[in-house]
Amino acid sequence: MTQMTNADENSRLVEDIAANFADITARIAKASEKWDRKAEDVTLVAVSKRQPDAAVEAALLYGHRTFGENRVQEAQAKWPGFREKYSGIELRLIGPLQTNKAKEAVALFDVIESVDRPKLAKILAKEMAAMGRALPVYIQVNTGEEPQKAGVAPGNADDFIKECRDLGLDVVGLMCIPPAEEQPAPHFALLKKIAERNGLHKLSMGMSADFETAVQFGATSVRVGTALFGVRDR
Ligand SMILES: *Cc1c(COP(=O)(O)O)cnc(C)c1O
Repeated sequence: MTQMTNADENSRLVEDIAANFADITARIAKASEKWDRKAEDVTLVAVSKRQPDAAVEAALLYGHRTFGENRVQEAQAKWPGFREKYSGIELRLIGPLQTNKAKEAVALFDVIESVDRPKLAKILAKEMAAMGRALPVYIQVNTGEEPQKAGVAPGNADDFIKECRDLGLDVVGLMCIPPAEEQPAPHFALLKKIAERNGLHKLSMGMSADFETAVQFGATSVRVGTALFGVRDR
């Protein structure tokens, strides 16, 4: 019996991941059409956290360039190498950020989607000024007011957005992660409402299980991990 070689396995992985990207892209296009939106107004952020390097590289070979990571340290270990090989990569931080990692995050990421408290906003503003990197940021809103989840409470969002703007941060939009056990639609609708009344145009919402609903409610980017790469390690 002949064994599958690493090269065979790898070409299969590249094919599988290309097929997943084509499928998710088509589903975004279909949802966009259904809800009278333009597919090009919805960015697919491929969430590569805890995925093997070979899978991430398959996405890069497919031509995908926008990725989300939720840990600074993990992203630091993975992305500088890929950036040497592939140009045009946009890396977004989508996970909670500790203030002692703010400097590294500003140096590594292109967009920070998880700004959620004054102390962090202040440090980010300071580090961005020091590095001359005015990154676009999203404010994370804890729409379900879950105690274990990051994000500003909906009732404090307007004040916090203003505070971030006053600090000089380039606030472009809002991000949310609805409670796992609830229908996501009301959370997406709430995020949109908060964005509209604050003059914000970008909405980062929707994951593997609910990105089509997010498109319906106005998502301008969806963060999809397992539906593209399969179940995560660990
Ligand atoms: C992991 C993660 C995702 C992707 O979730 P999937 O269900 O695998 O698509 C999206 N957003 C955030 C903030 C995440 O941490």
